[in-house]
Amino acid sequence: MIFPRINISVEKYRKNVKNIKAMLAKESIGMMAVTKVFCAEKPLVDVLNEESIEYLADSRLENLKKIETEASKVLLRLPSLSSVMETVKYTDISLNSEFETIEKLSKAAKSLNKVHKIILVIDVGDLREGVYYKENIKNLVKKIDNLHNIELFGLGTNVTCFGGVLPTQETMQKLEQIVIEVETQIRRKLELVSGGNSSQFAFLSTVPESINNLRIGEALVLGRETSYGKILDGLHDDVFTLEAEIIELKKKPSYPEGEIGMNAFGKIPEFKDRGTRIRAIISLGKQDVDYKDVTPQDQNISILGSSSDHIILDVTDSEKPYKVGDILTFKLSYGSILSLMTSPYVEKNYV
Ligand SMILES: *Cc1c(COP(=O)(O)O)cnc(C)c1O
Repeated sequence: MIFPRINISVEKYRKNVKNIKAMLAKESIGMMAVTKVFCAEKPLVDVLNEESIEYLADSRLENLKKIETEASKVLLRLPSLSSVMETVKYTDISLNSEFETIEKLSKAAKSLNKVHKIILVIDVGDLREGVYYKENIKNLVKKIDNLHNIELFGLGTNVTCFGGVLPTQETMQKLEQIVIEVETQIRRKLELVSGGNSSQFAFLSTVPESINNLRIGEALVLGRETSYGKILDGLHDDVFTLEAEIIELKKKPSYPEGEIGMNAFGKIPEFKDRGTRIRAIISLGKQDVDYKDVTPQDQNISILGSSSDHIILDVTDSEKPYKVGDILTFKLSYGSILSLMTSPYVEKNYV
């Protein structure tokens, strides 16, 4: 066995996928499963395929390129001008907000003899990507409609991301209003109205009627909605766990000895003198994860800090007599799953 490793329960993920799909279906809402947090790795993509998820979405072209699926592939991050050709080649649908990019996508699609679908992103106040909802959208829609190799497939919005804006009824009405205007203008129903992400589970009962799809990442891996962080009924919050190995265990003073200058990251550290403590070092560091985003399963352990390749823990208060070679288990957050899955130094262990 190789440590550190991240354990990934395929069956717990499947259960979350099934339950969330059913939860949304009850409200007549479809699901785009977001694969970026686990780098679109095959064992979990296979689950999404087996559970007949209609759309697989990721923010990285590299991930979308390698995904094998019958589902539609969706690029979540706005395409860059330099990547329009790859976008058209490796995805079916992309989220967009810049006409210049959409025009280039159309040219690229024409050269490949394709029609590329886009979801126009409307910013309803969270202030990350999207056309601000008070802008003249009519003009933009008209110009998009004139492009031969682009299909305006839908509208979408992103909330609870940069600004932490909640998808309340009032906020979602701003999108609803624009959907009605655009559908009147183009004289057809939009195929897809993508009303946000995992934060919507706290507001499912008030979602406006036109919203027929959500883009779900975190709820599938952590079993929770992201407006308030509540675990959803019947879902697993431990699809992913971390195990790391103790490589040193020693009694040492808690206050460094000698004159104090900068640490390995150019900062002057501060310490509290708590007398002699039992300290453990695990073989995992800043290069793999931010120690603030992992929680030891043994609640009597506290994390003191980390350097590039080491995390230092205080195990004095634990009831367990730890020794070198012992394995410590940690609960994970969205941020730590993201960075651990991305680190080539962390073993991915599917169970
Ligand atoms: C990552 C991402 C999502 C998924 O959000 P979760 O909170 O993980 O469900 C949805 N939309 C966009 C545009 C994203 O980049």
